[in-house]
Amino acid sequence: MPQKKQKQILSMPTLVMRGLVMFPRMSVHFDVTLKNSINAIEKAIDNDKYIFLVAQREENFSEIVTMPELYNVGVIAKVIQSVKTSEDTSRILVEGIRKAKIHDFYPVNFDNLDKLYYQSEVEPIDDKKLLLKDKERHMAIVRTAKNVFQSYALVFPNFPKRMSKRIDKTNDFIELFDEMLYTVQIAPEHKQQILEQQNPIKAFELLIKYTSKECKILDYQKSLFETTKERMDQNQRDYFLREQIKVLSQQLGEDDTQDEAMEFLAKLDSVGGIDNETYEKLEKECHKLYKMAPGSPESAIIRNYLDTVLSLPWDKKTKDSIDLKRAIKVLDSEHFGLKDVKKRILEFMAVRKLSPDVKGQILCLVGPPGVGKSTIAKSVAKALGRKYVRVSLGGIRDEAEIRGHRKTYVGAMPGRITNAMIQAKVKNPLVLLDEIDKMSNDFRGDPAAAMLEVLDAEQNSTFRDHYTEVDFDLSEVMFITTANDMYSIPAPLLDRMEIIEIGSYTREEKFHIAKKHLVKKELKNNGLTSKTCSISDASIYTIIDNYTREAGVRKLERTISSVMRKVAVEIVEGKVQKVTVTPKMLEQMLGPKKYIPEEIEKQAQVGIVNGLAWTAVGGELMQIEVAVLDGSGKIELTGSLGDVMKESAKAAITHVRSIAKQYDINPDFYKDKDIHIHVPEGAVPKDGPSAGLAITTAVVSALSGRKVRNDVAMTGEVTLRGRALAIGGLREKTMAAYRAGVKTVIIPKENKPDLYEVDDVVKNTIEFVPVENVESVLKTALV
Ligand code: ADP
Repeated sequence: MPQKKQKQILSMPTLVMRGLVMFPRMSVHFDVTLKNSINAIEKAIDNDKYIFLVAQREENFSEIVTMPELYNVGVIAKVIQSVKTSEDTSRILVEGIRKAKIHDFYPVNFDNLDKLYYQSEVEPIDDKKLLLKDKERHMAIVRTAKNVFQSYALVFPNFPKRMSKRIDKTNDFIELFDEMLYTVQIAPEHKQQILEQQNPIKAFELLIKYTSKECKILDYQKSLFETTKERMDQNQRDYFLREQIKVLSQQLGEDDTQDEAMEFLAKLDSVGGIDNETYEKLEKECHKLYKMAPGSPESAIIRNYLDTVLSLPWDKKTKDSIDLKRAIKVLDSEHFGLKDVKKRILEFMAVRKLSPDVKGQILCLVGPPGVGKSTIAKSVAKALGRKYVRVSLGGIRDEAEIRGHRKTYVGAMPGRITNAMIQAKVKNPLVLLDEIDKMSNDFRGDPAAAMLEVLDAEQNSTFRDHYTEVDFDLSEVMFITTANDMYSIPAPLLDRMEIIEIGSYTREEKFHIAKKHLVKKELKNNGLTSKTCSISDASIYTIIDNYTREAGVRKLERTISSVMRKVAVEIVEGKVQKVTVTPKMLEQMLGPKKYIPEEIEKQAQVGIVNGLAWTAVGGELMQIEVAVLDGSGKIELTGSLGDVMKESAKAAITHVRSIAKQYDINPDFYKDKDIHIHVPEGAVPKDGPSAGLAITTAVVSALSGRKVRNDVAMTGEVTLRGRALAIGGLREKTMAAYRAGVKTVIIPKENKPDLYEVDDVVKNTIEFVPVENVESVLKTALV
């Protein structure tokens, strides 16, 4: 040790420490790399091995240090050993001797950085002595320190057991202090505080304080570590479970999404005819699927979506066979009559043959139910060699039914058109849009507008379903639509369609349809043959007349089927081998007759006229009765008459007043007679102006007392001045007249051209009298 000066100031080379605080009685070895530190150590070794170790307040990597950057108190130490471990690193071992306060600090050889080191002027300071009288206090501190130290040992990761045992054994104040100071990791600035404290009790207290603080930090760190570890464990468990699910679902045949996504991608590549935009969109969806967990709801949505879009017939087509002769054969083999319809269909096919590229011809078959509209469309598909798909539009109110729901909706589905295309499996099928007049619209959008897009040749090459969200070409689809009532079809749709009307069938036509088609069909459907079952002609007529009342033949077909089922039962029971159905048997099989055809009166009557009505099930004979009673000029109209019919009755009466004189009627009848007009059957609602002539005739007859011929029927609207105006449904009406046994039918002259569509049988039996006015009607009808 250098000679004590008067002021106890010592001068010695100085090592500036970074992040390390040295204490007396402490031996430490560490690496030194800074040039000035190495120089200082060399200098010390050259002198007397004493060196001053002082910590720097903040870490600073520059070699140049000034005094304010240093703490005031450091330690005088002895260099025990110095070994050069590499070119510019020395490992040294030093031992702390005495605390010292720094008074001056300066560089030596400042002009030669290679030899630069720092020298300090320091004043040694000593700690206060431990006093014996404070023994108990020491004991208290020792115990506390031991406790704190043990808890530190518990929370410090991998704390050496040896060390904690040693601490357990010591009860010496200084030894414990040194041990703790040496072991516990305390921040350098706190260590410096302890160093600067000259009162050992206070220093120890500081040490305990910082140790327990450290304990808390470590404890917190530990619990933090445990929760994160727990979380990591949880994640691991989830991962494990997911893997198990994967294996299970693979075993159950549910491939995982990645395999599926790859399959979809392969399919996407194998399908031709997909445009670029669609391709990219689908590819993106495949990638999305790839990343999804198997079994998640989203993956199911994407899977469905890809399945749907990829099952659309992007590039598949059938070849049209336009062979008119074959077509005629096909159409005739399946449908009786319908001459007009077949002719129009052949024309249509001929045009197709000449210019295959002309698009946008849409046929609309209009007619009452059961007349063969949908089945003929099916035959057309067969004749053309196209696939056939039927889309029923009846009752559709929601646009989404046509065009699909957006994929974002729960349970979203493509619309009926897209579904039809998937069902067809080719892009040029014949699609039957059944009952296009039965679409209605409400707040959920207008299905007719969506339909317009489907049918419009200008737009339908890029039809976009809300669900698929890709353009699909419908331009090669052949659409045929059907409707019961042309006037219920939304006008813009009607505009785009070519109407073919199919009227109701006459009794004769029904008979032939049954004989040629329905019986054969139902024999087959019920496992019978012509050898085991036959139906007499009279039976067929009986079914038509007494068991059905319809415009088409659907009920007829069903009734025949029902008869055949009963025959089948008899044959299976072994009662008979062959059954020939007669009208007599029908009553047993089908119960009592349901309909009795209207018949005309046996003889001419006053105030009763045969009118003719046109209803949904065909034509009907409708008797109009008029009674005249004394009264006050009231007019009574009964029989569920509609407004139009009531008005036409009033017009008839007014006209009768104007012609009263000619027919010997008291012109004042409107003052003292009540007129009651009644049309049976009272419960069936009736409307329309076409009973005008019949009402006029009945009123004249009732007022004049002249009889009306019972074998005459009439139809026609009447004006106030007695003119006869045209009516509709002549074919059906005359058929009804024929059925009832009428000989003469009075029709408005304007309807004469319509006679050509009247059934030949009817034309041959009935005399038609075209009239222009009431006068001619009365001339024919009154006896
Ligand atoms: P719509 O579509 O007009 O309501 P459908 O096409 O369903 O009627 O026809 C009902 C049944 O009547 C079908 O079994 C059909 O074969 C039969 N049918 C209708 N018209 C004829 C016809 N002219 N020839 C043969 N069968 C017919």
